[in-house]
Amino acid sequence: MSSKKTEISQEVPEAVDLAGARKALEEEKVSLQQKLEEMGFGGSGLEYDDNFADSSQVTAERGEVETLVAQLREALSDVEVALSKMSSNRYGICENCGLPISAARLEAIPTAKLCITCVAQRSRR
Ligand SMILES: [Zn+2]
Repeated sequence: MSSKKTEISQEVPEAVDLAGARKALEEEKVSLQQKLEEMGFGGSGLEYDDNFADSSQVTAERGEVETLVAQLREALSDVEVALSKMSSNRYGICENCGLPISAARLEAIPTAKLCITCVAQRSRR
């Protein structure tokens, strides 16, 4: 029942606060990097995942740390992906269906890769 015409196409919806999202992502990135650094996994150590997981001398305690580090790294990589999408104007586009992700969703989850419809479809399986 909206009188608004659908003239906007292929654009990131104006409602998305890109500057705000970028700020949130950059803050998240710094905080994640700090956590990794505190645990001794800072710097440019994003590449040696395989070797690390391959290590046969992983104790239970170390396993926990490893899990946490893996989670932090995953979160960090999500943030970096989102930031790189921003630079190439692909931010806020669903990776599955190619439609814009709602501004409210991006505000809640700045690293969201899928729109709410696709997430619902995936979690159903
Ligand atoms: Zn989608």
